[in-house]
Amino acid sequence: MRLTPAFWAVVGVLTLGAAADQYRERALELMRTTPLIDGHNDLPWQLKILFNNQLNHVDLHSLNNTHTNIPKIKAGRLAAQFWAAYVPCETQNKDAVRQTLEQIDLIHRMCDKYPEELTFAESSQDIMDAFVQNKTASLIGIEGGHSIDSSLGSLRSMYLLGVRYLTLTHSCNTPWADNWLVDTGSTPSENNGLSEFGIRLIREMNRLGMLVDLAHVSVEVMKKVLQVSEAPVIFSHSSAFAVCPSKRNVPDEVLSMVKDKQGVVMVNFYNDYVTCSSRANLSQVADHFDYIKKVADASIIGFGGDYDGVGRVPEGLEDVSKYPDLVAELLRRNWSDQEVKMALGENLLRVFKAVEKVRDSMKRTAPDDVPIPYEQVQNPCRTSYGYPPDDSASSLLPLSPMLLILAQTLSHL
Ligand SMILES: [Zn+2]
Repeated sequence: MRLTPAFWAVVGVLTLGAAADQYRERALELMRTTPLIDGHNDLPWQLKILFNNQLNHVDLHSLNNTHTNIPKIKAGRLAAQFWAAYVPCETQNKDAVRQTLEQIDLIHRMCDKYPEELTFAESSQDIMDAFVQNKTASLIGIEGGHSIDSSLGSLRSMYLLGVRYLTLTHSCNTPWADNWLVDTGSTPSENNGLSEFGIRLIREMNRLGMLVDLAHVSVEVMKKVLQVSEAPVIFSHSSAFAVCPSKRNVPDEVLSMVKDKQGVVMVNFYNDYVTCSSRANLSQVADHFDYIKKVADASIIGFGGDYDGVGRVPEGLEDVSKYPDLVAELLRRNWSDQEVKMALGENLLRVFKAVEKVRDSMKRTAPDDVPIPYEQVQNPCRTSYGYPPDDSASSLLPLSPMLLILAQTLSHL
């Protein structure tokens, strides 16, 4: 029998298909032993927009107009997710704190409603425990410093509610940190990067054991935090600037600082940050993984899909069910099993453990209870209770306990 070219074409396709399946099989095998941890997912914000947070009206098994639902989570082998407690910049100095609390409440209610599939997590150990139970560890990240209204008390209270990372800004400046739009020239710098209060906030996050997230901040802030933070930091959803020069991405000099600090950059899948255009595909996302591995190391890479927070996602990565295809692509590009495992979750776990270790080492450090100077947050929606009545006195506020003691001492003389 003479074999026709068409026959060989069919054989070729079948062989290629089998090879592709081999990579996917290996991807699934690795994901069985190492948890996939994603840094950022905005499903809670979709539930706000679509249902005004009325979870009783939603079935996460059948919800189908979002990137994320329970069947997709299962198909994507999503072992742990930092859910974003995101509220828009428009809420700054208005109802940001209330709305953030509502998103935190919503994430807790998601876990309570689906106990077979989701389990609330607030430590590196919780992630591993959930993985053993075949449930998706559900962590909370706050996206934007406006959510704490320049209050260390708010930060601490949110930590008590289970929040484990704070993205220092969203796409607006806070009274103590500049956002990435400053680097585009469209927004003026207001804090020269990170203010004195911002530096104190980083120390307080170190003391609490909260991860510092540098997605969305200006390069100046990235560098300053990498200097002052005792613990390693994360970029929960940012890609490589050299591959797509969006100011939301991480420049090479910062990638090497992250490497020195042993942090993690969790690659964002949003088309606009993958290719700097409206179209992108899975392979182009893998290019970011390859690039970061080349200029830094596989030890600083993670996944930060930004699903349900963006309008456009790459071809081949349409929703959270597609992660194994991206893992298979990395294997096809000769990533070793160990490199893939680091990117899947080992890197994030290493950072989380280091953050917990710094927290433990600061156990005897008192909480920072000095409020932000009033003149830095003065606005019509903020009262000044607790602050001295005139401005000149308010600048002395950090010294006021000492003055009080002095006054008491003098009154006893
Ligand atoms: Zn974001």
